[in-house]
Amino acid sequence: MKAVRIHEFGGPEVLRYEDVPDAKPRKDQVLVRVKACAMNHLDIWVRKGLPGVNLPHILGSDVAGEIVEVGEYVTGFAPGQRVLLAPMSFCNHCGFCTSGRQTLCAEFTVRGNRVDGGNCELTAVPAVSVIPIPDALGFNEAASVPLVFLTAWHMLVGLAGIRPGQTVLILGANSGVGTAAIQIAKLFRAQVIATAGDERKMQKARELGADHVIIHYQQKISVEVRKLTENAGVDIVFEHVGAATWEESLKSLKPAGKLVTCGATSGPAAAIDLRFLYSRQLSLQGSYMGTMGDLREVLGHVFAGHLKPIVDRIFPLSEARAAHEYMEKSQMFGKIVLNP
Ligand SMILES: [Zn+2]
Repeated sequence: MKAVRIHEFGGPEVLRYEDVPDAKPRKDQVLVRVKACAMNHLDIWVRKGLPGVNLPHILGSDVAGEIVEVGEYVTGFAPGQRVLLAPMSFCNHCGFCTSGRQTLCAEFTVRGNRVDGGNCELTAVPAVSVIPIPDALGFNEAASVPLVFLTAWHMLVGLAGIRPGQTVLILGANSGVGTAAIQIAKLFRAQVIATAGDERKMQKARELGADHVIIHYQQKISVEVRKLTENAGVDIVFEHVGAATWEESLKSLKPAGKLVTCGATSGPAAAIDLRFLYSRQLSLQGSYMGTMGDLREVLGHVFAGHLKPIVDRIFPLSEARAAHEYMEKSQMFGKIVLNP
């Protein structure tokens, strides 16, 4: 089969479109023909080099496709079924996994990080990761759902406990997680203040349901948030930008507000004044992906049409390098998808 592999870490030039042996399912696995694999910032981090990645390596966390073969021990699936794959890998038998808290499993990783991903034609995965999709959902749309909607749902619903009427600040509206978070916050009838980099992204964020959009290159986020909330601040900050916005994010919280973060796209080093943290009784929470329960829950809303995946652009898998270069320019609004 064809696959995009990296044999060394580095820039987009290390991505190689090449022939590799076909994936073969074990008796407890399902073999899936990949129809679409969506990109995430993680693809760029892994390509540049992360600990625990064995080379050569196949990138790609978000897969949708068709079942080709079902292992002898697997029940409930049939060849030809349209499915998406959970974007994570875990042992499925430790105490955390069996109590539904897969993100805490010692073997937990994102598909395409410490295990091979979906930038290929065939992938063999455990049956627990395979979820049927409705006929009405296209493969490119289905592949654009799992990682970002799972992450945003776990952050807003699982960790921050979002409630109707709350005000939420969502950083980076154009990113995959940003587009998911805006929609989830509106599903809970929250007031959404989003940030975007330019007028075009601002308009798109409004179309997704954002009540207010701050252009973060022209306006100071915390100052605008104070104006929009009559000086109160927000209940929840949805962070993933990191160093560039950290201080503004903290300043935007109301007393007892919660900041949940899942990333550090602009850099990992951030400072905090502890007096500000305790006197305002803020909560800071880190989030990494989400559980199978979160995924099933958010997919229910996607399949019912309440939440919509946003596809920005589709590239052939053979042009993965151009897709990486495009993502690194941050011009997208929503997901970039590769088609084998
Ligand atoms: Zn486990």
